Order: sequence, then structure tokens, then C-alpha cells
Amino acid sequence: MFKKILIANRGEIACRVIKTAKRMGIKTVAVYSDADSEALHVKMADEAVYIGSSKASESYLMSEKIITACRKTGAEAVHPGYGFLSENAAFCAALSKAGITFIGPNTKAIEAMGDKITSKKIAKDADISIVPGFMGLIDDADMAVKIANEITYPVMIKASAGGGGKGMRIATNDEETRQGFARSKSEAKSSFGDDRIFIEKFITKPRHIEIQVLGDKHGNVIYLGERECSIQRRNQKIIEEAPSPFLDVATRKAMGVEAVNLAKAVDYCSAGTVEFIVDEKRNFYFLEMNTRLQVEHPVTEMITGLDLVEQMLLVAAGEKLKIKQDDVKLSGWAMESRLYAEDPKRNFLPSVGRLKRYRPPQELKNKNLIVRNDTGVYEGAEISTFYDPMIAKLCTWSPTRKSAIYAMANALSEFEIEGVGNNIEFLQTVMGQERFINGDINTAYIEDEFPNGFFGATLTKKQKRDVIACAIMMQFLIAQRAGQASKKWVVFIDGEEILTKVNFIDGVGWKLKIGKDKNKAQGFVWHFGASLARIIWNDNERPILKVKQAGTGFNIQYCGADLTLKLLLPKAAKLMRYMPIKTTPDMSKYLLCPMPGQITRLNVKTGDIVEAGQGLAIVEAMKMENMLTAAKHARVKNINIEVGDVLAVDEVIMEFEEI
Ligand code: ADP
Ligand code: ADP
Ligand code: MG
Repeated sequence: MFKKILIANRGEIACRVIKTAKRMGIKTVAVYSDADSEALHVKMADEAVYIGSSKASESYLMSEKIITACRKTGAEAVHPGYGFLSENAAFCAALSKAGITFIGPNTKAIEAMGDKITSKKIAKDADISIVPGFMGLIDDADMAVKIANEITYPVMIKASAGGGGKGMRIATNDEETRQGFARSKSEAKSSFGDDRIFIEKFITKPRHIEIQVLGDKHGNVIYLGERECSIQRRNQKIIEEAPSPFLDVATRKAMGVEAVNLAKAVDYCSAGTVEFIVDEKRNFYFLEMNTRLQVEHPVTEMITGLDLVEQMLLVAAGEKLKIKQDDVKLSGWAMESRLYAEDPKRNFLPSVGRLKRYRPPQELKNKNLIVRNDTGVYEGAEISTFYDPMIAKLCTWSPTRKSAIYAMANALSEFEIEGVGNNIEFLQTVMGQERFINGDINTAYIEDEFPNGFFGATLTKKQKRDVIACAIMMQFLIAQRAGQASKKWVVFIDGEEILTKVNFIDGVGWKLKIGKDKNKAQGFVWHFGASLARIIWNDNERPILKVKQAGTGFNIQYCGADLTLKLLLPKAAKLMRYMPIKTTPDMSKYLLCPMPGQITRLNVKTGDIVEAGQGLAIVEAMKMENMLTAAKHARVKNINIEVGDVLAVDEVIMEFEEI
């Protein structure tokens, strides 16, 4: 086994690899850029080497610098994590030339599979069912239109070198094909430095189900079951699970066998993932192979009991796989939620900033429950625009799917993040949705369930009761501390006005009256200033709420809803009715920048007349190009910015006037 390895990555995945290496007694070397000098992976590793400025192209993507760092520290092997150089065949070849082991597959497999066009050809030759499409390169928009018509709409325009859902567009007509071709090409060029584009049939509402494979250098390849990753936004996964609630034993086996055949076709000798899309009839089609450790690999680890990084290290060192296909037993159910710095209420646009508060739930492992949180951040760390905006991967395991979902919902309600927009509320909302709980999911789930966007969950009557109960118990404790005796409070919530009564009796517990309903709670765990509160209704019902004092009331986050409650004494509540109602200013005549980013294109000038839906400007953030469009017919009154400007959220880009 290696004595020392270098991890050519950052963030949670670098930390995750370091953990296993440590456990195996292998020394670790981290690399870091300017932005990461204080990063967690640097603190966790035995040694760290500075490799350049914050831009990935000047640090994490520079293979020479990684090789020099190996030489300097005596690292014998490199684990590339995912992203960055993980699927870069030239890097792999350069390492081999330098006598350093790549902890991943061989160069040939990366070359063949890292490219979507080549991999589809190989898959076809290996008799694997592929998404129908044109497997050649597409030169220009005219050719794209011709091919799209041959395949028949809808089609998907894709970058051959693509990844992370980037460089990908759906087109349903010729005009969309032309536009999509141009957008995909330029996104592919800026993200991957490779603008080759191809087109395939767009399969409507499929499930994304992928097979984890594992091979060694002696020709053995096995599969470790599947993961379902159908909950996606912008073709990027956010919730994954293993196993899939959709597969039966026969389909699992058929997909596993095809995945192994494909891996064998390229002498695959590491951990890898064969991605498929599966239609309603359980027909499955090969999508691509990821020749690396996958972001969502923890869910497979949790149901197989294997450590995939350990397996990668063992096979890279030349050992034979100890596990045979028949030894692979899937047990229980695992869920993963990707916590991203992004704003679901603004169409999931990326968000940046400092983590003023970062309090993950307690990790734990027992017979019926595992809570695991993979992260690369800490309280006070900065989420910058330079890298992937993922904050953490929260995973739960339990014997059944329902209990794994319940555990996830609970873990999310304890997860506190402040200072950076994040998707916790959104994840909580999905965990509470009937359709998700029933496993009735596909890749269009988010579009279908949130057709007009996400605005926070709507609470059930019972959940609302929890929120009000929490508020009046806090209020009772605060009032008691201040020496006030009032037990009656009027709660203003969601446009409603509810008369409540709260009392605590030693040895009896809490007596609560909310409107006409009487409730009893065994206990309430909260102290002045705390940000989490737990109501103990009884032994089984113990909801956790995120709470904050706000004016004459509270801000409470619960089950995906974010509510502001006002609490007044009955006398004051009467007077409230005579207060004027605040109005919000009309912002519809401005185009505001929806995310921090750079304006890379302006399509209009002052005086232009624009139509609803017309593209006005492109703002680029996190390497994604986002077209901002006009909301209605209007004239551009003035433009406040220039191409190249870097804007903050809500900065005014242009102003319109009615015509
Ligand atoms: P997974 O398929 O493992 O779930 P994603 O497809 O979301 O993960 O991508 C994982 C990470 O790797 C993301 O940070 C993504 O931006 C990055 N990535 C994936 N493919 C590429 C690529 N070809 N070039 C650069 N980065 C990539
Ligand atoms: P990436 O390398 O970015 O992960 P993939 O080819 O794996 O790209 O596609 C990512 C996601 O986009 C898939 O999980 C799926 O939801 C969607 N997708 C890709 N190709 C198709 C297709 N032909 N039809 C329908 N959905 C697709
Ligand atoms: Mg993929």
C-alpha cells in the first residue's frame, strides 16, 4: 500500500478522501489555491502545498503543479476526487510518465468514457442500449437543425466533454435548436475548454438511475447496486438515494450486467459509474460513464457497508478485489441531500458569502440509523464564486425508505446555515411531499411540483399548530423572565389572527389552547437566545423548529416554510386593526440582477422596444450562462451597466418605460 498520497482536489471530497487515507495509515498531502489557504482540507491533511491563484485554471486544473507537488512531498499516488482533473486523460498520462500512480482507472478508459460521443460508440459496440441520437460532431446551427429534425423533437443538445449538467439544452423546435446550439457551444467552451456538441433524443420524464461499478487491475469487475438521482434541477442532481424505489430484481441485474460489460470493454480498474435513464416501462438507456468517484457515492457505501475510497486505493495499489458479485448484499435505504449555496426562491441561482453560522446535525451510527455529513466548510468560511457551490452532503440511512426520509427531514431541521442563501427549506419541502414519499419521481419532478417556482412549503394544519405552539411557549418563557404574567396572546400568522392561551404546570406539562383546539405537550426544550427549539408532544412526536426573535414575535422555519409571527396581548391586538397596511414598491419596471455575476452580453440598447420573453442580457455566474428576459412589452429607458461589469444581487441592470 502507498505510504503517502496527494489529493488533487478541494472541498468535501478532498476531506472525505483524507479521512479514509488516515484510517488506513496513509499520509496525505493537500493542495490549495489562494482562496483555500484556510480551507478544511488543508487543515485535515498532514501536509499542504500551495499551487496558485484562486481561479481553478491557475491552480487545481494545472497538472504540472500537481506533479511538482508530488515530487516535492514524495507522494506516490494521486486521488483526483471528482471534477477538476479527475477525468482528464492527459493528466493521467503525465502522472504515469512521472512514475506516480493515478488512483482511478487507466488512461484509455478515461479517454474513451470521459467523452460522451466516444463512450456512446463503445457502448453501442458492446450491445448496450443507448439514447437514440446522432453520434457525430455538429459543426453549425444549420446542421444542428437538420439533425434535430431527423431525430425528431424534443431533442437534447449536449457538450461531448460536458459534466455537472453544464453545456446542455432541450430544444422543441428549430429556433430553440439554433439558440441552444450557440449557448451550449459557448458554455462548453468556457467550462470545459472543448466546444464539441452532439444531439440526442430527449426522453420525456425519465428516471435517472446509475450503477456503481468497481474493477481491479486483474480483469475483475463487479457492480454495487444502483442509485436513483431523479430529483434534479438544471439537470443537476440534488437528492439521491440507494436503492431505487423503481427497480425490480430483474432490471437491477440487467442494468448491472450491462454496466459491467461496458466497464470490461475499456479494462476498467477502479470505482466508476454507468449512468442510465429509465422510462416508465423500465426500458433503460445508457447516458454516460463517469470514470471517477461520484458525488453521491456515500449512499452506495451506506447500503453495501463498503468504503469506496478504500476500494479505490486497494485496487490502485494492484490488489485483487476481495469481494465477488455474490458477496454484494444491499441492506436498508440511504438518502443524500446536497446542500447548495443557492436560492431556490430565485430559480436556484447560486449564492455566495460567508457562513455566519454553520451547525450541522450530530453525525451518528447505530443499528437503525446513520447520519453522515460530508463537508469541506466550517463556520466562518467563505463560499466563493470560484468553485462549486456545494456546502455539504447530508446522508441518512435506515432500514426502510420511509424511515430514511423521516431521518433526513429531522436532520435537515437541525441543520443551521446562515450568511449564505441555501436550499435547506427546499430539501425539507421535498422530504415532506406525498409524491416523493411514495417514490413517484422522475427528472421533471421539480418542474412538475413547483411549476411557478419555489416559495416555501405550505404547512398542514398540524404543522401550523406546531409553529404556533412553539411561538407561545417561547413567549411564555420570555414573559415569565420579564416578570409579566400574561398567558393569553394573539398570534398573527399567515394573515390569520388566532387567540391563544399558554400555561406551564410543574409535573403536568404545557397546556396550550390555540383557537378552539386544546393541546398538551410533555415538554419544550428551548432557552433564551437558542436558535433551535424542540416540542415534546409525546415520546414519538418531537418536532424541531428553527427559531429567531423578530420584533414583537418570531421568525420560525419548519418543514420547508419560513414564517414570521407577531404576538400581541389581546388589548394591543385590538388596536392593531387600526394600523395602516404597508405596501411594497413596484419593481416591475426594472431588470434586476438575480444573482452575483458578470454581465457577458447585452442584447438591447436604450430606446429599444422589447417583447415579453425577449433575451435582454446574459449574466454569467459559476460558469453558467443565464439569459435574462423581458417580462412584458416595454421600452428600454436606460441601461445602468456595461458588458464586463460584475454585479451584486438586485443591482439594477436596466429600467423600462411603459408604451
Ligand atoms: P455526479 O455525476 O458525480 O453526481 P456532477 O455531474 O454533478 O456529479 O459533477 C460533479 C462535479 O464535477 C461538479 O462539481 C461538476 O461541476 C464537476 N464536473 C463534472 N464533469 C466535469 C467536467 N467534464 N469538467 C469539469 N468539471 C466537471
Ligand atoms: P452530465 O455529464 O452533465 O452529468 P448527463 O448526460 O449525465 O450529463 O445528463 C445529466 C442529466 O440530464 C440526466 O441525469 C438527465 O436528467 C438529463 N438528461 C441528459 N440526457 C437526457 C436525455 N437524452 N433525455 C432526457 N434527459 C436527459
Ligand atoms: Mg451525468
